[in-house]
Amino acid sequence: MVQGEQLSRQHSRLLALATSAKPLVVAGPCSAESRDQVLTTARALADMGGVSFFRAGLWKPRTRPNSFEGVGHHALPWLAEAQQTTGMRAMTEVATPEHVEAVVKSGLTAVWIGARTTASPFAVQALADAMRGSRLTVLVKNPMHADLKLWVGAIERIIQSVGNDVGALHRGFSSYGTAEFRNAPMWEIPIALRAEMPEIPLLCDPSHIAGQSRLVQDVAQRAMNLGMEGLMIECHPCPLKALSDPEQQVTPKQLKGILQSLDIPTSGIGGHEDRDTLEELRMQIDSVDEQLLQLLSKRMDLARTIGHLKHKNRWSLLSVARWRDIMASREHWGKQLGLNQGFLGRILASVHEESIRVQGDEADKRRALRKK
Ligand code: PEP
Ligand code: MN
Repeated sequence: MVQGEQLSRQHSRLLALATSAKPLVVAGPCSAESRDQVLTTARALADMGGVSFFRAGLWKPRTRPNSFEGVGHHALPWLAEAQQTTGMRAMTEVATPEHVEAVVKSGLTAVWIGARTTASPFAVQALADAMRGSRLTVLVKNPMHADLKLWVGAIERIIQSVGNDVGALHRGFSSYGTAEFRNAPMWEIPIALRAEMPEIPLLCDPSHIAGQSRLVQDVAQRAMNLGMEGLMIECHPCPLKALSDPEQQVTPKQLKGILQSLDIPTSGIGGHEDRDTLEELRMQIDSVDEQLLQLLSKRMDLARTIGHLKHKNRWSLLSVARWRDIMASREHWGKQLGLNQGFLGRILASVHEESIRVQGDEADKRRALRKK
């Protein structure tokens, strides 16, 4: 347990909300553009019901310069007005201590830390120092790249400073080249975060994962299937005219549809019969995992022996032709067994990498023995 988690359990307004609202919803435009746009969106969301936090970015971290970079602190009174008139709590992204200071002065009580900022412990610490004693509710987005420790560390820094009311916000991880999603969800990372910090409310930002409005529903449902407590969804009265992220924003009406059709699993397990079946299936999984590990260990023993042979004959460790053969044959077998090709590719690459490492270790050991 991280320091301060007990405290967070007792006093976190976020945790209280996450427990009562299922899901806890944060919605609003990617960026605040005008007073009218902010208030129109906020009113529509408030009328819809079920939205706890109103979001709007004021200082926009754009990848390239000379594009719209947000209206800045001018929009703080618009957010404060939205908060006062609708009852939703307004929040924005903070990236510097000056942003924190301006937000606190304006009377807002919630912020999020963006993915680019989470990647820098210096920047996160500067924010944590600026937040000390502020009673802010803080959502910490995952860093741009898939580094769980960096995410955990950023959350710990903020907890040490504000003491409670901290949540994690999964927005996917940037990847190179074209892919189905704008940011790869890599669900195993938020799952690992949950295991490491079980007391921290975990929200998903399907908008920045999907990158396209038509995929938002599906990503949101997957987050719910994993038991995440909340969603942050970008919402604009006229998405195609939005000054940032026009492709991924949904209208308030579309958001209503998305939220209504979500299937939220209950955390408890139903009847006795199902519980027995689940126990039985889990036992079978334990047994299959044990066999998988035994087979992996056997494979590494074989790799070790091959390493010895290669060293003795001064053959190179890596054979591209053999690697190609392995991939082709295993992909074929995997297809016949109904395994997902992407999953199989990742497993094979990882097993192969470890085999080469084991072979290299074996060769080093033999070399050292010869020198003695
Ligand atoms: C945002 O939420 O507006 C944003 C910029 O997100 P991210 O930090 O996930 O890119
Ligand atoms: Mn955005």
